[in-house]
Amino acid sequence: MLKYRCYVCSSTFEITTTRYRCDCGGLFVLETGSSVFEVDRSDWSLWRYRSLLPKLTKESSSPPISMGEGMTPLVKDLDGCILKLDFLNPTLSYKDRGSVVLMALAKALGVKEVAIDSSGNAGVSVAAYAKRASIGAHVFVPESTSSKKVKQLQLFDAEIHQGGDRSFAALAIAEFLEHNRDIFYASHVYNPFFIHGVKTVVFEIFEQLQGRLPAEIVVPVGNGTLVLGVHEAIEDLKRASVIQVGPKIIAVQARACAPVFEAFQQVPISSYRLSQETVAEGIAITSPPRASEIIAAVSESNGSVIAVSETEILDAQRRLFEQGIDVEPTAAATYAGYLMLRKSSCIESECAVVLTGAGLKSR
Ligand SMILES: *Cc1c(COP(=O)(O)O)cnc(C)c1O
Ligand SMILES: [Zn+2]
Repeated sequence: MLKYRCYVCSSTFEITTTRYRCDCGGLFVLETGSSVFEVDRSDWSLWRYRSLLPKLTKESSSPPISMGEGMTPLVKDLDGCILKLDFLNPTLSYKDRGSVVLMALAKALGVKEVAIDSSGNAGVSVAAYAKRASIGAHVFVPESTSSKKVKQLQLFDAEIHQGGDRSFAALAIAEFLEHNRDIFYASHVYNPFFIHGVKTVVFEIFEQLQGRLPAEIVVPVGNGTLVLGVHEAIEDLKRASVIQVGPKIIAVQARACAPVFEAFQQVPISSYRLSQETVAEGIAITSPPRASEIIAAVSESNGSVIAVSETEILDAQRRLFEQGIDVEPTAAATYAGYLMLRKSSCIESECAVVLTGAGLKSR
C-alpha cells in the first residue's frame, strides 16, 4: 500500500490521512514503488503512463477520471528550441496534469468536498476536475486573480473565497480547514499526488522525441510543482533504466519575486520580501513550502535558477506572439529565461521550454 513519507523526518502516513503535513512541519513525499516504464498506446491521455503513476485501487482498464489531459504538442521556435505547448490542456494550463491525478485520489477516498488555495490556474483546474468527479470545490484566490480565471471558477460552480494576497489565501484556507475537518485539502503544493501527475510532461517529451530527452528543460518556478515533477520523472526513467543521465533543470523566476533564485545564491528564504509586483502572477510565491526540495532537485540535475525582469517577460511574450503563440506572462517568463541564456551563449545543446498557461485567460 502507498504511504506518504515526511521529507524532513521520514515518518510515514497512510494516504487516507486528512493531514497534509507531518507533526514536525515537514511536507509529504510519495514513492510509487514502480520502476517499469510502459506506455499504454491505446490511452490518449496522460493515463497512458499509469505504470509510473501512484496506484490507488486494483487496476481497472479505464482511467478514474479524464478529460484527455496531456498529449500536448511539441513545436520548434524560430531558432530550433523545442516548445512544449502545455497550455493546451483542458483548462488551459499544465495544472490539469496534477489535478486529474489528485482528483482521482479524492474520488478513491470517497471525498465529498475539496478546498484549494491558488493564484488562479490551480484553483480553476481543481474546480474543473472536481466538477467532473461530482465533488464540491472551495477555491481561495487572491484579490488580484485575473477576472477570466474567476469567471472560469464560477462556471465550474466552485465556492469562491477571494481576498487579500496569495499569502492571505493560504492563511484563510488553513483556518477554513481547521473548522471543516471533513473537507479534503486538494493542494497542488502540499499533496504529492499532484506532482506525480505533473511529471508526465517529461514522459511525453521523451516519447515525442522518439525515446530521448533534451539536454536542458526550462520550467517556471513558483511553488515548484513543475520543477519537482520534472525531477521525479527523471528519477523514474533512471530507475526504469530508460535513461542514464537526465536533463539539466533550468528554473525561471520573475526578478520581482525571486526567493528560489536568491536561495540558490544562498540567501535564506525566511528573509525574503517581495520587491515589486510582477506580471507573472502564477510564480509570485514569496515563501514556497517546498523550497529545499526545489533547490535539491535543481542542484542534482546540474541545473540552475535564473531570474528575469518585467521587461524581459513582456518582450518574450511578444516574441511568442510573433510566432503565433499566445501564452500568459507567467509562461512567457520561462521563454524569457531561455532567451536570456541563449543571448549569453549558455545554451549549447538541445533545449526544451515548457509553456504552462494560455494567454486568453490572463486578459
Ligand atoms: C502554477 C503555474 C506556474 C508555476 O508552477 P509552480 O508549481 O507554482 O512552480 C507556472 N505557470 C503557470 C501558468 C501556472 O499556472
Ligand atoms: Zn516529519
